[in-house]
Amino acid sequence: MDMRARGQRVIQLEGGEPFLNTPDFVKEAMKEALDANHTRYAPSSGIQPLLDALRDKLATKNGVDVAASDIIVTAGGAHGLFCAFQASVNPGDEVMFFSPYWTPIQDQVRYSGGVAVRVPWDEIRDRDLREALEMRVTPKLRVLYVNSPANPTGDVLSHAQLTGIAEFAQTHDLTVIADEAYENLVYDGEHVSMASLPGMAERTLTVHTFSKSFSMTGWRIGYLVAPEPFMGFLRKLVLNSVNGVSTPTQYAALAAITQDPRFFDSIREEYRRRRDLLVSAFREAGFSCLTPPGAFYAFPDVRAILGEDSWKAMETLLERTSIASVPGSVFGPEGEGHLRMSYSLSMETLETAVAALRKL
Ligand code: PLP
Repeated sequence: MDMRARGQRVIQLEGGEPFLNTPDFVKEAMKEALDANHTRYAPSSGIQPLLDALRDKLATKNGVDVAASDIIVTAGGAHGLFCAFQASVNPGDEVMFFSPYWTPIQDQVRYSGGVAVRVPWDEIRDRDLREALEMRVTPKLRVLYVNSPANPTGDVLSHAQLTGIAEFAQTHDLTVIADEAYENLVYDGEHVSMASLPGMAERTLTVHTFSKSFSMTGWRIGYLVAPEPFMGFLRKLVLNSVNGVSTPTQYAALAAITQDPRFFDSIREEYRRRRDLLVSAFREAGFSCLTPPGAFYAFPDVRAILGEDSWKAMETLLERTSIASVPGSVFGPEGEGHLRMSYSLSMETLETAVAALRKL
């Protein structure tokens, strides 16, 4: 911000938003809803046409067969996560999740009275997943938070890995919070919903959002899918926190969710092109970088070039190249030595970043 205030150009790779604008058909649906005076209170759990459309989408896209009453509309994924943690974690419960993790997760766990149990992503990439989970089990472990595709690493859990996690959850009678915010942004492999696996729908609270799939970050709308007894708690949480999401926004979301899913094909190609460009620029610059199969972040290990401390690395990169990034340690101790950079950018910005990296 200081650099920009001084009139210097900053190449902003630190963000977490789709580079595309909200599609016109979504904006049109909002305008029509306003003209039709859909401006009064909605039922706090969501308008029925949207709940019905979400049920159909869950069946066809996610392989999750639920009733419309198992779905509740939330003010974005962040609100969905807040409600999910509040509904499933009791004070003193241990909550397991993979690290590096999306920063608010640690706070959500703490605010619900839970105790964080981190499992390094590196351990489940390189060795037996079940072993990495089992070695951290205590009698207090109650909840497992699973984010795939993942922020900040871009990891996508395979069907086999998710099956291993599902068996682990059933063996230890755990509740799972599945964060599927990036479900439509998978470039290699496929997105598998935790609740679609045998025996999982009855113990999984799934958080979905319109933010990333439909470039609707500012609209604040998402939805939660959960069985009883959780849905009863979730209804109270939504009622007493926001008392339902803005009514015209729900009509806009209805237009989004009923769109032909082929809508995502060209979008995915745009992201893939950007990912490949940035990842190869990182490698040429001497960073060690896995090719992230999903979401829209790369998470290179920059230690060889920029040193161990990710805050200093972020500052050095900014000074030398004008590229802004997020220090990996913000996403937990396992993120140290890394930087998170988004490739959700215009091609022009991305090409400027690639040229700047060549001069590093
Ligand atoms: N989950 C993950 C992993 C995210 O990265 C984000 C946003 O960055 C969210 C959930 C929530 O997004 P929103 O509140 O915009 O729906």
